[in-house]
Amino acid sequence: MLVRAARQVASMLFGGRCFLCRGASRGGVLCTPCWGDLPRLSATRCPRCALPGPDGAVCGRCLAHPPRYDATVAALAYEFPADVLVQALKYRGELALAPLLSGLLAAQLPADSAVDVVVPVPLSEQRLRTRGYNQAMEIARALPLAARLAPELCTRVRDTPAQSELPLAARARNVRDAFRCEDALDEMTVAVVDDVMTTGATLDAVAGALKRAGAARVVNWAVARTLPPTDL
Ligand SMILES: [Zn+2]
Ligand SMILES: [Zn+2]
Repeated sequence: MLVRAARQVASMLFGGRCFLCRGASRGGVLCTPCWGDLPRLSATRCPRCALPGPDGAVCGRCLAHPPRYDATVAALAYEFPADVLVQALKYRGELALAPLLSGLLAAQLPADSAVDVVVPVPLSEQRLRTRGYNQAMEIARALPLAARLAPELCTRVRDTPAQSELPLAARARNVRDAFRCEDALDEMTVAVVDDVMTTGATLDAVAGALKRAGAARVVNWAVARTLPPTDL
């Protein structure tokens, strides 16, 4: 009910106008120039964590400390104005942005990305009640999926401080043991959907829970990827 109301409000607020520049958008969420200017990730990136690299090989960080997920697909760099879109969906109930962000993500999924089940990164029950929706679920539900969408598969058992409120180094500790998966996932390939991947600590914790439940392979599908600072 709350979700439907928020969606209606969002579409009334920016119908016909570009969400970013307020110019005419011919009915889309973004106008053509803003769409073209979105900070897309470079084509060569680490297949495991999606950080850009010179040759598209697995990066040194993933080789030295292999994460529990096996692959990551991401569409945008988490930079302006992609961050504006992600935050508007996450914090301001602009649910009409979900199909736009899903479409950008879907365009990056390889044709052979066969998965058995799709899981949005869960919120704790308390945060879900406060926010009224899970932005990862909204993105996942707007994806063209051949596989089953299973939000009930993985739960957040510990309400942790929001990752965005913590320094990067504290994030892995914050989400350790925060997720649980009860079902037996015999040798399944699971896709985990999230809005933004920053350090990867949350997705690593989710992948750990899924693998403990028997998943053979876990792939992250994230709309946006935070890039490390460059010293240029
Ligand atoms: Zn625009
Ligand atoms: Zn990597």
